[in-house]
Amino acid sequence: ERERLARLRHTPAVTLDGEQVALLANIELPQDAPAALAAGAVGVGLFRTEFLFMNRQGELPGEDEQYEAYRAAVEAMQGLPVTIRTVDVGADKPLERMSMSELRHEHTLNPALGLRAIRWSLSEPSMFRMQLRAILRASAHGKVRLLIPMLAHANEIRQTFEILARAKQQLRDAGVAHTDVEVGAMIEVPAAALQLPLFLRHFDFISIGTNDLIQYTLAIDRADEAVAHLYDPWHPAVLRLIADAIRLARQAGKDVSVCGEMAGEPAFTPLLLAMGLRSFSMHPSQIPAVKQRILRSDTQKLALHLASVLASDDPHAESKRLWTSGREAA
Ligand code: PEP
Ligand code: MG
Repeated sequence: ERERLARLRHTPAVTLDGEQVALLANIELPQDAPAALAAGAVGVGLFRTEFLFMNRQGELPGEDEQYEAYRAAVEAMQGLPVTIRTVDVGADKPLERMSMSELRHEHTLNPALGLRAIRWSLSEPSMFRMQLRAILRASAHGKVRLLIPMLAHANEIRQTFEILARAKQQLRDAGVAHTDVEVGAMIEVPAAALQLPLFLRHFDFISIGTNDLIQYTLAIDRADEAVAHLYDPWHPAVLRLIADAIRLARQAGKDVSVCGEMAGEPAFTPLLLAMGLRSFSMHPSQIPAVKQRILRSDTQKLALHLASVLASDDPHAESKRLWTSGREAA
């Protein structure tokens, strides 16, 4: 079994009909990078930087500390691309201290709908600029892509690019090495998925965060056990948003990946391939199982059945009927 997995690590993820698929890793700390490489990841599709900010009693990490962490991840990936997401604190990932000035988090009734991710970053512009400078500096050491979480509104996009421009200007003025990184948006709020052309105009790539997209589409708190049985990735409305986002991004010639749990769940691999997805980012331990599924898949044949799965009241049953294990190519 270990030999088989080792062989699989070096096998390119290519479907039966010759479609190349990028299998990327989700990491939380630079120390996770070796596991990503060992699993055969061709890059990091999601570096959740909030883990550098969490579980700290005192000061939040400063620019140099962040830079060292991002650079460590980039160097550990040995030239492969690393997609660094700006902090996604709040909701299920609270900070000890949510704000420089007040403990806003404690007063929030619905933290998932509150000041989290890019909303928090935009409310702390100097912190946000500091993180952007640290990420830009790391880009001098490898291929870095910048990813922004939880965007929903055109105003947030505009503010983000203004602050990014300022961060670049500060580095230029100080003569600090950096490159012009690609900038991507997480699509994880239904409002963003429904207004995708706006995002495709402004960003170089998109990454679909299915964990939050499901939560916000179905109004099911992803961390609330009382409603966990209603958290349904197979809900037709969820699948419709994902399928449309992938299709529109491809039509626009923009790179699109999925970085939520669905990407690492082999039961969804045929469906996502049928939708046109060619980039999956997941926990490193899921890469071998998803790769095996890809190696047995024929995307042209899968795509023939996409419409019937999306139109079904029970896409899960329809998917199993059409694409049960070993019959993906049928
Ligand atoms: C997601 O929402 O799907 C995602 C990848 O981000 P996180 O799980 O960190 O919220
Ligand atoms: Mg998310």
